[in-house]
Formats: sequence, C-alpha cells, structure tokens
Amino acid sequence: KPRLYSGMQPSADSLQIGNYIGALMQWRDLQEAYDAYFSVVDLHSLTQPYDPAELREKTRRTAAQYIAAGIEPSKSTLYVQSHVPAHPELAWILSTITGYGEAGRMTQFKDKAQRFGADATSVGLFTYPVLMAADILLYQTDIVPVGDDQKQHVELTRDLAERFNSRFGETFKVPMPVIQRDTARIFDLQNPVAKMSKSAESEAGVLWLLDEPAKNAKKIMRAVTDSEGSVRYDRESKPGVSNLLVIYAALTGRQIPSIEDEYAGRGYGDFKKGLAEVVVNEFGPVRQRALDLLDDPAELDRVLAVNAGKAEAIANRTLADVYDKVGLLRRA
Ligand code: ATP
Ligand code: MG
Repeated sequence: KPRLYSGMQPSADSLQIGNYIGALMQWRDLQEAYDAYFSVVDLHSLTQPYDPAELREKTRRTAAQYIAAGIEPSKSTLYVQSHVPAHPELAWILSTITGYGEAGRMTQFKDKAQRFGADATSVGLFTYPVLMAADILLYQTDIVPVGDDQKQHVELTRDLAERFNSRFGETFKVPMPVIQRDTARIFDLQNPVAKMSKSAESEAGVLWLLDEPAKNAKKIMRAVTDSEGSVRYDRESKPGVSNLLVIYAALTGRQIPSIEDEYAGRGYGDFKKGLAEVVVNEFGPVRQRALDLLDDPAELDRVLAVNAGKAEAIANRTLADVYDKVGLLRRA
C-alpha cells in the first residue's frame, strides 16, 4: 500500500469544523487504501503560546477526536509525535540544508510572527516547517492530505527531499500534497475572509467539534452574511453565505446547486436553521465517542503507545540511513 502522512497540532481542547472537513473526513476515507500515519504533533504546538499543564490533556483530546471521527488505530498508525524521537532528530539534519531565506518565505511563519509579536516569535516557530518536513519524510510518504494553508510547507518538504537526494544519494521519497479543492479552506463565521483556526483570537466564529450542540447552533445563527438575502454561492461578493454553503455541502455530501435550490426564495434564517441541524447531527455522535474515550485515559494512552512503537520502527530505519549518508560516525 502507498503511504500517507498527516497530523494536527493539539493547540486547543477541541478541533474546529475546518479540521474536521478539511482533514479528518479525508483521512477517514483514505485510511482504507493507504498505509496511513496520523500524528498529534505536540512538538509543533510548542511554537505557539501554551500552558504545559493543559498541553498533555489537549494531546489526549486531539487523539480521541481522531478516533471518534473514524480513524481506526488498528488500521492506521495514530500516535503522538514526541513519542518518536526520530522526528526532531531528522529535523535537525534537514535544518542544515534549509536556506535561511527559504524558511523566511513561509507565509504561515510571517502571519504568526506578526500575530505573536517579536517577543513570542521563536526560532522554533521559524523552523516549524522543517520539523513538518521531517515528520513526512521519515515515513517515505507518498501523499500528504492537508488544507491549502499547508501547501507551501509540503512544497518545501518536496524541495528538501530532492535536495537531500541529489546531495547525498537517493534517500527520501518525494511526497505529493493532496488538497481537496472545494473544502480546502473553511472560513471563520464572523470574518469569512479569514481561515477558521483552533488558535483564532476570537471564538465567536469558530465551530468546535466538542462544544455543546446548542452553542454551535447559536454561532451558526449569528454567522455574518450579507444584505442580499438570497442563498447563492459567490465567493467574491458573498463570502459568508458561500462558506456556509460549503460546510453544508461537505457534511451532507450534496452539491451546492441542490442546496441553493432547496433554499431559493427563503431567507437566511431558514438556511441557517437547516445548517445548524446538519452540523449538530454530524457532530453529536463524534462528540459522544470522544468524551467516552476520554473517560478512560489509561486505555487511550496504551493505544497511543502501541502505535508509537509501530511508527518508531519505520522512522528509525529512515533516520539511520540519513545519519549514514551525511557521514555521522556510527556508534559501535
Ligand atoms: P492552529 O491555529 O493551531 O494552527 P489549525 O486549526 O490551523 O490550528 P492545524 O493543526 O494547523 O489546525 O491543521 C490541522 C489540519 O487541518 C491541516 O491539515 C490543515 O490544513 C487543516 N485545516 C486547518 N484549518 C482549516 C480550515 N479552516 N479549513 C480547512 N482545513 C483546515
Ligand atoms: Mg494551522
């Protein structure tokens, strides 16, 4: 089977609907045809402001939501990044072939650096994409399903793989990003031109997978729209309504025109009520499964440990090859 790698940061108590539609739904479908590695990238989340006491719990919660959304830990390798030390070890090697200017061109770094300010912008935030490249390359990955916000990072990963291969000899498979066109980007409900994010400054426009259903319904009813009053897809002039249509279509598997037809001549209130029902019905069972899994953290930790062992076996093989190729002396 070809290999697949993807991951998410445990940067919040709950995942948001963009993570669910843009990533988890694809992962769930792809895990059948691929030898899939899904990681909770806790080392990455040290690059943004966080609370150490909460991070551990967020890591468990993120893993529980993967499983609740349908990732099967007996089929896919679902593990915690920091449990496999080869990740930061390979990242160090890759950082030595990454250009300083090249890393500086990453738009996510520029965005986050601006948001965090000079004092909270660390070297770790700068080298974040290099660690992500290590994550992917360790597993000789064929495809990386991500939202389009991560496309630039996967391109850097490809460049680093090709550079390493040409400098030191064939070592890494060069991975392909897989980006679901229509659902690549879910936008914030209050600011429908900004990507919805776990770490958004305001929660008012974020739909959380683990929130009480009534809370999410209320946020949908309050979503920013426009004054035209017709349920019609038009990214340019109707970003709010278009975003809601994309969410509706993604969760129901329906085409946007069929949803437009259903709500033709009806107001935004009806449309939002319909969408709230769709979201609540979809999230309800996922939320319940996640909460059940979190009731038994020892069992969850055991599953993660078994999977870390599987991941480590593959990762260590690649790392040993890399150490040889770059000329590090083998420990006798
Ligand atoms: P953070 O704010 O901590 O960066 P995030 O919500 O952007 O959180 P990540 O952990 O960075 O989430 O990304 C996890 C996965 O979810 C990635 O594949 C990413 O492309 C995807 N993703 C994140 N936000 C969205 C979104 N708004 N729409 C579609 N996909 C998304
Ligand atoms: Mg992100």
